[in-house]
Amino acid sequence: MYALRCTKKLLARVGSPSAVDEPATTALGDWFAQPLSLGRQRFILLAAERSRLPVLMPARNARHIARTFPQELVAVLECLEIPSEVIGREIDEMQECAIAATNNRSVLGTLNDFSFLLRSMMERCAGRDPFDVALSLCDAPVGPLGYDTPDRVTVRLLTAAWPHDMSPAAPPATKTEARAVFVATPPVARTTVDGGGAATGITPPRERAPRPAEAAVTQAAHTTVRTWITDIRHFLDEMGRIPDDLPGPALGVAMFVGSIAAWVTSPRGVGDLRTNVACRWSPAGRTCPGIIEAGLSGDGETIFWHCPVCGDNGQVRGWEGTPWDRRRR
Ligand SMILES: [Zn+2]
Repeated sequence: MYALRCTKKLLARVGSPSAVDEPATTALGDWFAQPLSLGRQRFILLAAERSRLPVLMPARNARHIARTFPQELVAVLECLEIPSEVIGREIDEMQECAIAATNNRSVLGTLNDFSFLLRSMMERCAGRDPFDVALSLCDAPVGPLGYDTPDRVTVRLLTAAWPHDMSPAAPPATKTEARAVFVATPPVARTTVDGGGAATGITPPRERAPRPAEAAVTQAAHTTVRTWITDIRHFLDEMGRIPDDLPGPALGVAMFVGSIAAWVTSPRGVGDLRTNVACRWSPAGRTCPGIIEAGLSGDGETIFWHCPVCGDNGQVRGWEGTPWDRRRR
């Protein structure tokens, strides 16, 4: 049993809410849903209360959302390579669904962040499948998860709630291995500038196996999409300046993310996602020709960027008050 908690606007199309007091018996908890328009297309965007996993579905048949949503969720969980028995247990537990009003502003904030990101990514990537773009949000760090990502939290919650025997009949080789490596990657490790000047402030890019549709888009450039998490403050000394002894690679990254922050926070960057910053990715000595696109998240704190050519992407935090903060004060 779980509740589908719809915003007022969506309730008008789905039906009247009932009062739900008991907690959900599913691993992912209640689901929150709101309408979303991308161009002329109408969708419903949902997020799981406990893992913030995003699911995008067509808005047609909104009235039957309680029946159609579980199938949409299955498709997303399959992309996360969750064993089918585990998916089956969660879906079984979702047979009973109550339509209810929203009751958690934090989840609504996550939905708004996802909506902003989806819109900005779709505006700049004409022709991309919105469902693939939504899938790419599954590994966007989410503040209320302690900057963990919805896909990792989802895997943890589901496998803890519905244990299954993974050992003997090992699932088919390569893809699963790549996934296991990805899932095991520790969350963002913050390092700080030390006097020794070791590479600082940047977590190594997470490599993950491309999802099938994503592969079609990025295959030409390389076979994995990399996500960079950076906090600009970690490149600066106590005075907020770049230390003289910052090692070359770290300096390069600092200048790269700094330039992105400068564009996004400058008057020119308002309403224009295409920055003046070139992509840094250079596979086999060939430089990616992409120009970085970037925007500010709904909370106004995180800058999201991505390269439309190779798919490299990342988040920049800690830019406020740095030399790259170009907002008028
Ligand atoms: Zn690129």
